Amino acid sequence: MTLLIKPGDRSQRVADVQSRLRALGFQIDDETGSFDRSTTQAVRAFQQSRSILVDGLVGPNTWSELVEASWRLGDRSLYLTRPLMRGDDVLKLQQLLNALGYDAGREDGLFGPDGERAVRRFQKEYGITEDGIFGPESHISLIGLRVDRPGTAARLREELILAERADLSGSLIVVDPGHGGPDTGDHGADGSNEAQLCWDIAVRIAEVLADAGAKVRFTRTEIEGPTTSERAARANELDGDIFVSVHLNSHDEGDAAGASTYFFGGSRLGERLADSIQQELIGLGIRDCRSHARAYALLKETRMPAALVEPCFITNPEEEKMLQDPLQRAGIAEAISAGVKRYFESKGPEGT
Ligand SMILES: [Zn+2]
Repeated sequence: MTLLIKPGDRSQRVADVQSRLRALGFQIDDETGSFDRSTTQAVRAFQQSRSILVDGLVGPNTWSELVEASWRLGDRSLYLTRPLMRGDDVLKLQQLLNALGYDAGREDGLFGPDGERAVRRFQKEYGITEDGIFGPESHISLIGLRVDRPGTAARLREELILAERADLSGSLIVVDPGHGGPDTGDHGADGSNEAQLCWDIAVRIAEVLADAGAKVRFTRTEIEGPTTSERAARANELDGDIFVSVHLNSHDEGDAAGASTYFFGGSRLGERLADSIQQELIGLGIRDCRSHARAYALLKETRMPAALVEPCFITNPEEEKMLQDPLQRAGIAEAISAGVKRYFESKGPEGT
């Protein structure tokens, strides 16, 4: 059977296509896995951008282009194999290595012998085990070379954000629903699972913020469970204005309760975002477990102001009951969204 996903279809596959397109920055209105008009438009725009046949349908060729386009440098190790590894991560690597003078050959998105030789030359010069495999160690060295030296680029970037702070309307919010896929997260005594609840709350946040004119992108689909670094990499690639990760707290003791929010200690704007969300959550009457600086990889690796929010404890029977009620979940999502709005409204560097 040949793969063909077309207008009118409604399935998990359509949802997967949509989430890949969204992650690439294409606008899709549908949230239900229906191949609607906006999906067709996004498919056509994607096909145009890849210089492939523009028919608005997702056949085998468009699908493999989508898969290739979804790879971000750092998502996986790159090495010489048959058939050749292919994807936009390979292309990015070729561009970076060529720009640095390592001659990775033609920039075609295929990891061939030229790519391997260039990786080896790079590794040799930077004192990395010379194995021709572009893995995490090589990635960190390469990125460190170009953007993320602590105290310089990241800091400068925050100053710029502060100076040119966008309004919520027109800004890009990256929402990260915690866990997912095989990782269901923590569980409540009554059977709730964190991954599903986070997904539900994230979708509601997206609706509220989209209504307010923001663009919202997710770090995963409903069925995926990317790693922390993949989530951060997606957010960075999307170049979001802010990043909000949704989790639920847990504790061995069932009576632990309340809302907490976390930010990266080096980020003043992250702190402001976290505080603002925390204030709105306790406004719902949830116990205040405060906002805290944490060096979580997710908060550290995301380059925009970021907050990780745990609106309550899934292990607390009363809070689990609250989470099982769609109206209460809507309330939590409204509060988090209100915190995001307030962050955008608070102009200027006051309080820093
Ligand atoms: Zn969690």
